[in-house]
Amino acid sequence: MRLRQIKIAGFKSFADPTVIDIRAPYIVIVGPNGCGKSNIIDAVRWVLGEGRGSELRGKAAAELIFAGSAARKPLGRASVELVLDNSDHAVKGPWGQYEELSIRRVVTGEGVSAYYINHQQVRKRDVQEIFLGTGLGSRSYAIVSQAMIARFTSAKPEELRVYLEEAAGVSLYKERRRETESH
Ligand code: ATP
Ligand code: MG
Repeated sequence: MRLRQIKIAGFKSFADPTVIDIRAPYIVIVGPNGCGKSNIIDAVRWVLGEGRGSELRGKAAAELIFAGSAARKPLGRASVELVLDNSDHAVKGPWGQYEELSIRRVVTGEGVSAYYINHQQVRKRDVQEIFLGTGLGSRSYAIVSQAMIARFTSAKPEELRVYLEEAAGVSLYKERRRETESH
């Protein structure tokens, strides 16, 4: 599975709809301080389901939606969409059949969030399930922040195991077992 595009509209400093194409195996984002580099990573974390109590900077809807500038009025909603190439069918479950997956999250000024997979409204957990076992979830090792590196170096063995389990792809099965046992 590969991330192909990040589409951002109305999220933080991205007032205008912006499409970031990821065609090369590696990309580097450069720019002056405050130009919005970290906001791109925030957008990716957010569409994967991060919110309250996470590392995302700015958690309330009002902080996530473009707040206006000298030249522009504030906007009323933010949208982030990830386009994933799933031609290797790394995604299991009901969405695994699709070669391409679009994951989108929208929030309005009232703070109401909605999630979509291939333009069909779903629950947050449907989005999270897509990424379980793929190494791309919001709680995976796929995005490594500076704060996380600090945590790794001081983590207890049990905490490190959680990351290892996601890396090895067993977290999906643990989640399934937990569900089965609770029924
Ligand atoms: P650095 O190199 O310092 O890490 P950066 O490129 O990572 O900078 P970001 O942190 O991504 O910069 O962007 C910060 C900018 O985003 C600030 O100018 C801030 O005003 C703007 N910003 C954040 N939230 C909003 C919002 N809700 N509406 C409008 N602008 C926002
Ligand atoms: Mg930054």
